[in-house]
Amino acid sequence: MKKTEIDEQIQKVEKHHGYLSSGALLGIPMINYACDLLGCELEDDIFVTVETTNCLPDAIEALTRCRIGNKRLTIRDVGKFAISVSKKWDEKGIRVFIDVKKLKNYPIIYEWYMNIRKVPHEEVLPEIMRAWRDILSYREITIEIPPKEKKIIEICEMCGEPYTLEKEDNKEKEKNLCADCLDRTSSNH
Ligand SMILES: [Zn+2]
Repeated sequence: MKKTEIDEQIQKVEKHHGYLSSGALLGIPMINYACDLLGCELEDDIFVTVETTNCLPDAIEALTRCRIGNKRLTIRDVGKFAISVSKKWDEKGIRVFIDVKKLKNYPIIYEWYMNIRKVPHEEVLPEIMRAWRDILSYREITIEIPPKEKKIIEICEMCGEPYTLEKEDNKEKEKNLCADCLDRTSSNH
């Protein structure tokens, strides 16, 4: 990546995230690496799944057209610093992750990442700039493309509000209840 390109992307991430955190900065080499491996551009029709709610989703939003609301960005919070990226209608994907084995040469990133001590971002950021892709690994994955299904709207019998019926939902429910009301009735037991 060219220096100007990196600077431009840093600015975008900083603006979108509110400040430049270590996790948000790491999103830049991660998503660029994944796109290079897939042979696509950041602006392309790609789908990204992020495995943490921390910082990383904001970097993806800042650099791509993936958003929660357009369903191109999925957060599957398993607390891992990893992303999976695929092109639209393509079952081949790439999962890029911080490889803890590769952090040996980057002790500050290691201490921050493993939360060994409270490391201020200003201390981590230069080392991330130095490491860039050197601390990442990837593997190829297969994406399941879900069939497009008709959206079903039901009206909740308790609160009277319409809600989108989830596929797994409801099949065995005696009453037609939204998730909120279902929670409320089951917590009363
Ligand atoms: Zn309800």
